[in-house]
Amino acid sequence: MISVEQALEKILSYVDVLGEEERSILDCLGQVLAEDIYSNINIPPLDNSAMDGYAVRSGETRGASQQSPRRLQVIDTVSAGSISGHKVEPGTAIRIMTGAPVPEGADSVVKFEDTDEAQHKGSPAEIGILSEAEAGLNIRRAGEDITAGAKVLSKGIVIRPQEVGILASLGRSLVTVTRRPVIAILATGDELVDINQPLPAGKIYNSNTYSVAAQVRRYGGIPKILGIALDREGSLVSGLHHGLDADMLITIGGVSTGDYDIVKDVLAKEGEVAFWTVRMKPGKPLAFGTIKDGASRNIPLLGLPGNPVSSMVTFELFARPTILKMMGRKKLSKPTIEATIEDSIVNTDGRRILARVTIEQRNGQYFARLTGPQGSGILTSMTSADGLAIIPEDRAGVEKGEAVQVMMVDWSEEI
Ligand code: AMP
Ligand code: MG
Repeated sequence: MISVEQALEKILSYVDVLGEEERSILDCLGQVLAEDIYSNINIPPLDNSAMDGYAVRSGETRGASQQSPRRLQVIDTVSAGSISGHKVEPGTAIRIMTGAPVPEGADSVVKFEDTDEAQHKGSPAEIGILSEAEAGLNIRRAGEDITAGAKVLSKGIVIRPQEVGILASLGRSLVTVTRRPVIAILATGDELVDINQPLPAGKIYNSNTYSVAAQVRRYGGIPKILGIALDREGSLVSGLHHGLDADMLITIGGVSTGDYDIVKDVLAKEGEVAFWTVRMKPGKPLAFGTIKDGASRNIPLLGLPGNPVSSMVTFELFARPTILKMMGRKKLSKPTIEATIEDSIVNTDGRRILARVTIEQRNGQYFARLTGPQGSGILTSMTSADGLAIIPEDRAGVEKGEAVQVMMVDWSEEI
């Protein structure tokens, strides 16, 4: 049995960063930028007003106050999106809305609140300026956000909503990114029935395909659902053959030591087994290897154990970083915190336990409590969990009150 770290290192050694693709800016959230982005425009394009107010010549506001307003003739109104055809000459002002280009002649904007605007109905012919304005007051300078010619986004960054905003502000609708991996998912088991079908006696719904497909999506991959294979080699092989165009295959179930656990045998016949069994709980019977596609490709295959909690936990530990690596992401570790455990946990067989816990913060400290029964078939232990508390394999357990590391399942730096 190998350790969690050895297993992960092995799996990651079989995958590379994928190629590039051009995507619509709305479809590339969480993907890694594969080009440097330069701006060919200034943003904002022109000096414009940061306030609703009056564009004035600042020198003319010297000495202006509540008691002695400086009176200016209003010669135009300019709103965002249009340019005034007038120039602010001595003795005049132009009424201006937020975002509107500052008219020629003006060098500052006095906001409505610092004028007697409120005493007028609509656009006044004359305005009283009630305070002095510095040159540049309430003016957003052309290019103050982005200067024409500047590199705005660098190759290798992860696209978040703010990067989508930057791309849109440059007028871009498409961007080159590292493509998302396609992950083919094949459930195995004679007992499985697909959702939306009647449930005969002795059968269960194929839930894992869907939880795993959702995990694939969550971390940026594209799930390709291959359906259910029976516990027979022929059925498994033909199921897998529909996924040979994927970047990685995931099977669920059939990797233990039972009579029908045929995933390893099929791996050995159709490719190669890299390892089987990892020193962890849940998830010990994890298998990994490659399948030949008939041409020259060896497609990595991750054989997740069938128990619903085991498949999800092993996915988090192994499939998630693999997907992120293929997407070109650099940070592969899951956010982890230190918490005080409020239940004692016994470790009987030298495996790393990943206990489902809820996390509470009290007085600036985290406290972890088991979500209840920890059987690997109890999927509700995952729905109520905030994290996975890690009990090291070389410890006989942890006592109530001890500090533990907790991988936060929902704290994701990824999108
Ligand atoms: P296995 O690893 O195939 O022995 O499966 C372990 C347990 O997980 C068995 O109780 C299976 O019925 C259950 N199981 C396996 N695959 C699935 C699946 N796709 N959806 C729900 N339960 C499953
Ligand atoms: Mg099975």
